[in-house]
Amino acid sequence: MHSRVVHHLHLLPEYFDLIRDGTKTVEVRVASPSKLAIRPGHLIRFVSDGAGHVEADVIRVTRYADFPALLDVESLTAVNSRTDHAGALRALRRIYTPEREQLGALAIEFTPRTGDQPDWYCDQVIPGAVEVDVVLETAAVLAFRPPVPGFGSEHIIVVPKEHVRSILELAPDLAADMLSAVQTLAGAVTAQLGGCQVLTSVGDEQHNRHFHVHIAAGEGVARFITAD
Ligand SMILES: [Zn+2]
Repeated sequence: MHSRVVHHLHLLPEYFDLIRDGTKTVEVRVASPSKLAIRPGHLIRFVSDGAGHVEADVIRVTRYADFPALLDVESLTAVNSRTDHAGALRALRRIYTPEREQLGALAIEFTPRTGDQPDWYCDQVIPGAVEVDVVLETAAVLAFRPPVPGFGSEHIIVVPKEHVRSILELAPDLAADMLSAVQTLAGAVTAQLGGCQVLTSVGDEQHNRHFHVHIAAGEGVARFITAD
């Protein structure tokens, strides 16, 4: 596979906000088999319905007998800064039954990647929340015409289906998959329209923080040569 193990965790909006503002860095779950599979070095995608997502790198997972044992040791600010110790315990026990808590409690410490926002591709396009005109799809890559043309009378955007911040973070095998798709599409556009531009942005020049390549042709593209 291309990348590290990714775990999807759903969150209530109040906790999602605490992660987004950088306050919450420890997530508490019961020690179910799926959560016991979370290890340092893995990636978590925290998802909150309607609010998007935040990705985070797992740096520590510690198992406790139950929620009180966990809250005695872990930083309350990192777990739930909106309440006190008793309030944090009540909040956890509103979510989990006593039977679930008997599995044990996990404190999952993470570093949120808040610099990876906004991300229209992971939030909307790849999950299918917005209708796009798909022109090519493989196991690793999606290429589509956006609903509102960005530039060029022909405009195709090519993205990896897994989250990659920019071309600078792209792993070699996924780079090969991406370039292969770009080559196929740029060839097709050139055969039809005579030429195109292939463009990606990095750093301060990059608005959507998910690696994407524009293939654009026709009216509206940046002119590097005079047409005549
Ligand atoms: Zn993304």
